This record gives sequence, C-alpha cells and structure tokens, in this order.
Amino acid sequence: MTDQTISRANLQAIDSAHHLHPFTDHKELRGAGARMIVRSEGPYIYDSEGAEILDGMAGLWCINVGYGREELARVAYDQMKELPFYNSFFRCTTPTPVLLAGKLAELAPDNVNQVFYGSSGSEANDTALKLVRHYWALEGKPSKRIVISRKTGYHGSSIAGASLSGMDGMHSQLYGAVPGIVHVMPPYSFELALPGESEHDFGLRAARAVEDAILEAGAENVAAFIGEPVLGAGGVKIPPASYWPEIQRICDKYDVLLMIDEVITGYGRTGEWFACKTFNIKPDTITTAKALTSGYQPLSALLVGDRIASTLIEKGGEFYHGYTYSGHPVACAVALKNLEIIEKEGLIERVREDTGPYLARALAERIGTHPIVGETRAIGLMAAIEIVRDKGDRSRFKGKHAGDKVRDLSIDNGFMVRAVGDTIIMSPPLIWTRENIDVACERLLKALDAAEIELR
Ligand code: PLP
Repeated sequence: MTDQTISRANLQAIDSAHHLHPFTDHKELRGAGARMIVRSEGPYIYDSEGAEILDGMAGLWCINVGYGREELARVAYDQMKELPFYNSFFRCTTPTPVLLAGKLAELAPDNVNQVFYGSSGSEANDTALKLVRHYWALEGKPSKRIVISRKTGYHGSSIAGASLSGMDGMHSQLYGAVPGIVHVMPPYSFELALPGESEHDFGLRAARAVEDAILEAGAENVAAFIGEPVLGAGGVKIPPASYWPEIQRICDKYDVLLMIDEVITGYGRTGEWFACKTFNIKPDTITTAKALTSGYQPLSALLVGDRIASTLIEKGGEFYHGYTYSGHPVACAVALKNLEIIEKEGLIERVREDTGPYLARALAERIGTHPIVGETRAIGLMAAIEIVRDKGDRSRFKGKHAGDKVRDLSIDNGFMVRAVGDTIIMSPPLIWTRENIDVACERLLKALDAAEIELR
C-alpha cells in the first residue's frame, strides 16, 4: 500500500480516529498527527512527504541487516506456502524453530544451550522471571524469589516487563507491580559519579548497590539479578569496565542467578554476537528479540543456561507457560536467514573492527566538541550524546526539552535519532558504512547548531 492508493490525509484521519500508539500521549498525537513512514531501502526510510531519512535507530533497535532484504521476504513467503503455522505444544514442533534452536546454541556462550521462544522481548522476560523462580522452587529453595534490577533499566511493558523495568512513569500506571522486584542505581557515571570519583571506583560502587540489596533482602530470598549489558532505552548508559566483573563476583558469592537482557545488544550490536562476550559475563539466561529477525518478523528467544535447563529437565514436571506463537515457523525461518546474512556479510566483525571504533571517534571529535554537548559515548553501533547548557558543570537546559528539540531538528535534517530526556541516542543498522557515519555527524551538527540558537 502506498500514498497512491490511500492519501496521506486519509491515513492520518484514520490514524487519528482509531489508532492508539505505543508510549504516546494521545492528546498530543491528535494535535500534531503522526509522521507516516511509507517505504525503506538499505539504511534509509522515506516518509509520506518524500523525505529521505537516514535511520539512526534501526527501526527500534532491530533492523540490523538494513531494509529491503529480498532474501528475508522470500524465505517468509516460502515458509508460509509450505507450513504457515503449527504449534510447539503437546509434544509437537516444526522444523524451523528446531534448526534455529540448534543455531542459537552454537552462537550463545558455552554454558547456554536451550531456547524458549516468544514473539517479543516483553514475553521473553516474562518467561525468564517465571523460569528463575520455578528453578529455585525445583531446587527446594522457594524463598529465593526476589529479583534485583536497576532504575532506568528497560525490560518490556507487559506487567512483568514493566515491573522489572526501572521506569517511574511505567510503575505509576501499574497500580501494583509484580511483587519481589527491587531496583538499585544504574551505572551512569555522567550523572551519578561523585566529584573526583574515577570511572573505575564509580563502577564498583554501582555494582555494590546490588550487593547491598542482596544483603538487605537476605541472600536466601534473592533469585536473580537482571540487567542489560548496556542500558539501552534508559539512555545508552555504558558501564565502566569495573562494573560487570564485580556484578559477576557478587552473584557468584551469594548464589544469585544472572539474567542478562540482550534484547537490544544481541546479534551484533556491540561487535560480538552477544554483549555477554564483550563484557565477559557468564549468564544464566539471555533475553533476545529484535535483531534475531532484524525486525522482519516478531520473534524472541530466551536463551537458557545449563544450570537452569538441567534442573528443569532432570526434575521434570510441567512448566505451565507458553505462547501460541512460541516457535512460529515463519518467524524462525526468517531468523535463520537473517543470522546467515549477518554471518555471510561479516557484519559483526565490521562493527567490531571498523564502524564501531570509527563511530566512537567521529562522535568524540566532531560532536563532543560542540558547546551544548557534555559527553559522547559509544560501544559498537550504539551511542549517546548528552545535551547540556554548560559543558563545565554539566548543568542542563532546565524546562526547555532540549533533547526533544535536538531530536526533532535532527529528523528535520534527515537523520532519525531518539531522545531520552536530554540524552540523544542512536543505534543504527549494522550495515552502516563510514560514509553513513559521516552523513549522520553532518546532519546532527546542523541540528545542534540550530538547537543552540533556540535554547540559549
Ligand atoms: N528488553 C529490552 C532491553 C528492550 O530494549 C526492550 C524493548 O525495547 C524489551 C525488553 C521489550 O521488548 P518488546 O518491545 O519486544 O516487548
């Protein structure tokens, strides 16, 4: 369907009349109307006005192989013709989820060899939460139920996902979160480090907030710690190098499971298949979705470590959990082809060895020097830019929605980014070249210049 078959005005009228968007102020949306993205190619999206926009968010952290991949469309078509759906309940399954499980076991860390499917990251985290609590019950320690998470972490918007997330706004609308979830400080040195505190020391202090929470609850009551290797939707907060080794030490010491949420970082974003490798983390579960299919189909995979899986299998008894579309054959076929493309084209090596370091340098040298930028940070192909009024004391433009302003100006200049408060974040497709990074920096600089004039 294109703007030739239904006019933009018509689409906007129907949108306004009938469509409730995710994470949206609907009163505001009805005033402004939505931007209509109508087609895409490679690293670009096109709106109904004909504007070409370089997509710095890979859709929503997912289009890792870029837009317009014929092979993915073809494999979905072929699978739909052969077998569009059959379930994996009641001792049945279909070939593609099986093949994908084998492939994921090959790619995952050595101690992770089992897969539980869903359609979204939120569903996968619901599965993870139920599974770790079930594990401890099977082990005869049912009191181990508390899960420690971080403020500003994001783990989805189902009731369990929102409860695990550390977003105040989301909690305020839950009217009762899932009990037994505790939130501690995130490793966000830009705002939380003390004057004169080194990155190293700050990383240790942030990790020890987890230890404090374990001690307060009693280790006999704590099931797991959950965290994104890099907090994504909370503002691409990259932890200091000291953080994850200390978290690992603490979890080992108190026999607390490690649930790693790689819904954003999985499948190449940090320059490895999984950020667990980047940060040398030994996980008990890894939540993945998004780039598993590069967003061409909804699919999530909770990767389950041997410790939990062997108990589940040895002790037996039904795990009362599953979704109609757990192991959807079409989504799994697309995932298999998507992983093949990532491998064949060497996209992860390219991020690790070339475009990742190039992006970090380009942002530091060309964007970080701008008068309203307080910090740039990047790892692989995910990055953040802190917008400040004063570079020296890192004070913000209070009440001026500076992040939203920079984002809007950047999109007007043909570069799609996202704003989290006054932090601009990006997470482009892994097919990005150095030229794409250069264009992104040029467009962002124009946006920053224009924003500075409006903000000062
Ligand atoms: N976990 C993380 C780290 C995410 O970033 C997201 C979504 O952005 C989710 C979970 C939830 O995934 P979904 O929106 O597919 O439910």
